[in-house]
Amino acid sequence: MTHILLQEAYVLGRIDKGVKCRVSGCGREAVRSLSTEKVRSAGLNVSSSERRAYLCKEHYKEYKKKTKKDKQLEKWRYSG
Ligand SMILES: [Zn+2]
Repeated sequence: MTHILLQEAYVLGRIDKGVKCRVSGCGREAVRSLSTEKVRSAGLNVSSSERRAYLCKEHYKEYKKKTKKDKQLEKWRYSG
């Protein structure tokens, strides 16, 4: 199963070890860095003044869920 872990690490990449999730109240290790603006527009409460917001696995999942919903809404809007 080692190759799966390596693959995951490669995909997630570019996060320094020890970087924490920037969602307020969360202190888990970050796995993803995204633009703070994007994360905020997805409804996550990021306590960061930096351009990049770091998200832990759980909050990244939440972010993905919310952006997926937005995309679906867009589709609806355009099809109507
Ligand atoms: Zn988090």
